[in-house]
Amino acid sequence: MLQVKNLKVAYGGIHAVKGIDLEIKQGELVALIGANGAGKTTTLKTLVGMVKPAEGDILFNGQSITRMPAHEHVNHGLVMVPEGRGIFSRLTVEENLLMGAYVRNDKAAIKQDLERVYELFPRLKERMKQLAGTLSGGEQQMVAIGRALLSRPKLLLLDEPSMGLAPIIVQKIFEIIRMIAAEGVTMLLVEQNAKLALQTANRGYVMESGSITLSDTAENLLANTKIQEAYLGE
Ligand code: ATP
Repeated sequence: MLQVKNLKVAYGGIHAVKGIDLEIKQGELVALIGANGAGKTTTLKTLVGMVKPAEGDILFNGQSITRMPAHEHVNHGLVMVPEGRGIFSRLTVEENLLMGAYVRNDKAAIKQDLERVYELFPRLKERMKQLAGTLSGGEQQMVAIGRALLSRPKLLLLDEPSMGLAPIIVQKIFEIIRMIAAEGVTMLLVEQNAKLALQTANRGYVMESGSITLSDTAENLLANTKIQEAYLGE
């Protein structure tokens, strides 16, 4: 579904991504782990067109999207849930969710998808009229994921969904991520919480200082002593 070839991204003189290769197959849940500043967020931003690469190619379903404008990515089903969530705090929960469907015209299906999001997140249903800015961090993360689902993503890119959330809420969010994966949505998951990410994913990539240094099944990465020492706190 997604092929990234020799991707290089620089901010002025800072080489944030130094020629990475990535591949994600339809239906996979792939984790991208690495320390702060390794280039994970930059990689996701480049995949959705928010940052332009200096070099390399991004193929989505066989078609090059490397130079595609950012706003067109969502039409192709390539959707990112940003770190910090990017919700509209002065809009209600429901208005935020429906923002995800702004490129769609199929009213009946949008309503169905909205109901589905409320099934996944009953807490959002209780709060549909509440201003999103007054939600807890975990609830805001639910809105951000729900909004992305309303755009019917083919490939969902999640940036640090556990960031700043209490452990019990993190468990809940990851339960939902597993449910979304089980419904067939392909996902690339960037996480500081490497253990949880690898316990959830099929495969993983390890990123260090702008390069991919290791790629393997999630199971093998969890069993790798170097990974355990560097990222799993073991
Ligand atoms: P974190 O987990 O801390 O978010 P990350 O792996 O997502 O880290 P990036 O945010 O992609 O890392 O940052 C990679 C490098 O690029 C860092 O050195 C960062 O300081 C730099 N960088 C990121 N965004 C910019 C920017 N807009 N301008 C200049 N440098 C940037």
